[in-house]
Parts: sequence; structure tokens; C-alpha cells
Amino acid sequence: HIDARGGLLHMSKEAILFTANRPETIMSHGEGMRMWDTEGREYLDFIGGWAVNSLGHSSAVVQQALAEQSARLVCASPGFYNKPMLAFAEQLTALSGFDRVFFGSTGAEANESAIKLARKFGSVHRNGAFEIITTLGGFHGRTLATMAATGKPHWQTLFAPKMPGFVHVPFNDIDAMRQAVSERTCAIMLEPVQGEGGVHVADPAYIAALRELCDEQGILLIFDEIQTGLGRTGKLFAYEHYGVKPDIMTLGKGIGGGFPLSAMLTKAQYDLFEAGDQGGTYTGQPLAMAVGRAVVDEIVSRDLSSHAYELGAYLKDKLQAWRVRFGLRNIRGLGLLLGFDLPEPSGKEIVAACMARGLLINSPSPSVIRIMPPLIVTREDIDQMLATLEHVLQRL
Ligand code: PLP
Repeated sequence: HIDARGGLLHMSKEAILFTANRPETIMSHGEGMRMWDTEGREYLDFIGGWAVNSLGHSSAVVQQALAEQSARLVCASPGFYNKPMLAFAEQLTALSGFDRVFFGSTGAEANESAIKLARKFGSVHRNGAFEIITTLGGFHGRTLATMAATGKPHWQTLFAPKMPGFVHVPFNDIDAMRQAVSERTCAIMLEPVQGEGGVHVADPAYIAALRELCDEQGILLIFDEIQTGLGRTGKLFAYEHYGVKPDIMTLGKGIGGGFPLSAMLTKAQYDLFEAGDQGGTYTGQPLAMAVGRAVVDEIVSRDLSSHAYELGAYLKDKLQAWRVRFGLRNIRGLGLLLGFDLPEPSGKEIVAACMARGLLINSPSPSVIRIMPPLIVTREDIDQMLATLEHVLQRL
């Protein structure tokens, strides 16, 4: 029996090149914290488009920015400045404390830009040093360079030959980092909170020591804040938790509220690219710029960082209370980027059981659950989410 939905799925999924295991569900529309499939089933969304929909689904802010800008100018060509590009650059540099920004569409593209800028720095200021040290468990994207930067050992042999110039060391291990630095090193790159790696928060002493090490060695410190940026951790940028500013910071995901947008920010002294060194058809694309500016305005004016901090603490406390009852371990994270370890590698089953009961959560590895709702989440949403999770955990 093939109903209308089954028929559609059967026909068209053959046309999608396989790259991911997806449930047999077709998402139809969303609003705020919720999304509906084509059969009318409602889902409370604690994945948030993968930490992307900072203002929730189809927020009025995103809709209005898109409508207004699309009526005015959709694409000017990357060969020209445009008004939303200049306005957003001014807003983002002022807010972040950096001097220069390069805009892209995806997180990987922002990280590619950071890698290129670090190599340029190495060639100009460090006798051609090109090596970048990253951390095991870190995630930086799926292009060839960002896969090489990513600290997943099994990715290092995929799509050979691997892009050279990346060294991986254990996260939160300053001695390993010190030992890895050599005259070939141009930069250290890491996420202040490893997201895809299972929500691992960097120790303040580690981050402070990294800053010192970079200053002492004359190399760059790069923070990949693609997942942690723009309010998610309870501060606008995770680096603010540490009182340590990197030399380069990358942003993506939540900055566009669902629209493809990323940014690489740096200090004036690293404005080292020459014409053509970096670019792209969609750099500074007016629609993306208008949406980004509106999303950032909304996050700042509603102080969603503080909201993320408070509601993250509320959710974390509730999870802590389940430690013994459900054997949850290492409940961790900052703001609304939270994770915990399960007593069994049952992440996949938990995610499927929650989805069947109308809740979307994520399991980045078999024994870890990650929670990253839109920043607009309410206490009622959290209570509803916990009621479903409790039901699922009880029956495991
Ligand atoms: N860096 C981090 C920390 C990420 O979490 C991600 C995506 O999950 C990326 C980079 C890659 O971003 P994108 O998938 O937009 O290329």
C-alpha cells in the first residue's frame, strides 16, 4: 500500500544522492519551537535545524527581512559593495570586538577562510609556516580542508590524499598542545565547546594557556564558534566566558536564523589577503546580509543570550535530578548547548522513540544525547520536552 505520502517519498528519494540516513518523514512547515510533517504530526524541536534556528522556525524577523530585501536587491554580484553588507559588517564587527569580516554561506566556508588566512599569515610572518593544530573530537566541516582539520581519526584516510598541514592533539591537554607546536605551526584552531564531538567544554585554564602559548610563539588562535556563537552558550560569543579573545573567530548556523550565512572575523593586523585570495559568488549576498543583521539585532535587543543562560541552567538542573534514576552521567554544556552520557549506547533508540512521541533531539554518538533548541525556548517547552524524554527513558 502506497499512500500519497509514501508515493512521493518513494519516487523522489531515489533522486537524492545518498549521504545520510533519514527517517521516512517529510517535513512540511514550522513555526517557533514546532515543526509539522506532511501527515500533520507535530514535533517539538530541540534540534533547531542543528543549532541553526536561533529565533525558531519561520520567525517573523527572518520573513520580514527576506521580504523587504528581496523586493529591493537579491544579488548585486560579489564585485560590488551593497548596503546590507556594509551595515551588517559594521554591526557584527562592533558587537564581536573584531575589526574585519569575510562573509560566506556555510560554516565550512568560514573555516576554509580561517585556514587560508592562517596559512597566509604563516607565509607572510612565519617563514612559510602552514601547519594548524586542532583537537581530537573537534568538528570543522566537510570540505577537504575542514575534514582534515576535524579531529575524527577515521576521517583522516577518507578521500585520500588528505589535505596536508593538520596535526591533532587531545582536547583540554595543554602539554600535548605545547609539544605539538613547532616552527611549522601557523595557528591553533578549536571549538571552545566541542559540539558534534559530544558537547565538551574547554577548561578556562586551558583556554588561557592557549592564548599565552600563541602569544609566546607568535602564532594565531582560531575559535570555531559556528555552533557556540550568537547567544547559544549564554553569552553572545563563547570566548566571553573565558575572557580570552582569539585572533580569528568563525560564525555560522544561528547567525542566519536558518538562512545560509557564515562569517570569519579577525583583527585589523591580519587583514592580509590580496585581491582574489578569497571570495565567492555569495559573499555578502544582500538577502543573507539583511537576514543576518535582523537576526543579530533580535538576539541582542531581546537579550536572548541571558535567556539561553537561564533556561539552560533550568534544563540542566532538571537533568541533574535524573542522574541516579536514569543513570545519566556527565551532564554538561553551556547555555542551550547541553549534553549528557547515557548508561548504554542507546542514543539512536532514544532519538527514534522521542520522535515517535513528537520530540526532536539529537544523539551525536551512540551514548550521548545533545540538546540545542532555538534560543526562544520557554520553560513550558522544556517541561514538555522533559515529560516526553522521561517517558522514553522509563521504558528503555
Ligand atoms: N564547525 C562547527 C563547530 C560545526 O558545528 C559545524 C557544523 O555542524 C561546522 C563547522 C560546519 O558547518 P556547515 O555544516 O555549515 O558547513
